[in-house]
Amino acid sequence: MILLDGKKLAGKIQQEIKKDVDLLKQGSITPGLAVIMIGDDPASRVYVKKKAEACKEVGIYSVVHEMPDNIKEETIVNTIKLMNENNSINGILVQLPLPSHINQTKILETIDPKKDVDGFHPFNMGRLFLGLDSFVPCTPLGVMKIFKEYEIDLKGKNVCIVGASNIVGKPMAALLLNAFATVDVCHIYTKDLKEHTKRADIVIVGVGKAGLITEDMVKDDAMIIDIGINRLENGKLVGDVDFDAVSKKCSYITPVPGGVGPMTIAMLLSNTIKATKL
Ligand code: NAD
Repeated sequence: MILLDGKKLAGKIQQEIKKDVDLLKQGSITPGLAVIMIGDDPASRVYVKKKAEACKEVGIYSVVHEMPDNIKEETIVNTIKLMNENNSINGILVQLPLPSHINQTKILETIDPKKDVDGFHPFNMGRLFLGLDSFVPCTPLGVMKIFKEYEIDLKGKNVCIVGASNIVGKPMAALLLNAFATVDVCHIYTKDLKEHTKRADIVIVGVGKAGLITEDMVKDDAMIIDIGINRLENGKLVGDVDFDAVSKKCSYITPVPGGVGPMTIAMLLSNTIKATKL
């Protein structure tokens, strides 16, 4: 079994990004990222902190706009519009989830697609599904980088994606289809999950349920990508896969932590550089 070391790969990518940033700075351009965070969700706070730290490490300027839970939708929209017009800001992201009184679609559609470093704007999502150049959501993009690094040929492979959210499963499916894999997307209403996962050469899971994928659900030598992040009662961070049992049976597997998570951050930095160069 080969452990897919996302942490190491993310470190390598961040070194390359740092060189890119240094070059841009020689031309008096400092890439800038604006993060909008609404409310006080502890997990969101951790993610936003990690993103800001990663920006600092590679020399990207970042600013975090914190807003209270009861903020008016109009105020968020106006803040995004200001960021759209601000030349020192190249990338804008709104940390999800948003409070229930805020219309998420309206907020995401306000971001200038050229600054949409999370790739959640319908314009970028549409281009992604058409196989055109676009900003691609960071987590699935990070998974594709892992495939590239480990020279995994996706053509004709049976891939089962478990989890069909707009930010993980759906864009993951589009990327894999564009790479000519045969894609099976499962979700909460899938009738016999095991029947789907068992057939797959590659199983990609992003659900948020510890222990969802057990050893009997994967075939021998399958490749396992675990996107899930779950905090157990004892404080331990785990994915959606029963790692100890499944890792004995598969050919490749991503650990949690240290797999897809660090790649997501590296792809955010990469998308910010892409936006700066546009
Ligand atoms: P979500 O709640 O929006 O979507 C969950 C998906 O899982 C849905 O499509 C739902 O139908 C499906 N699902 C739920 N229960 C299921 C079941 N029993 N069997 C099959 N499918 C089921 O969640 P999300 O935002 O897509 O996040 C999913 C997980 O990925 C979470 O653990 C999240 O923390 C993690 N995540 C990790 C990263 C990273 O960088 N590693 C990034 C984003 C999300």
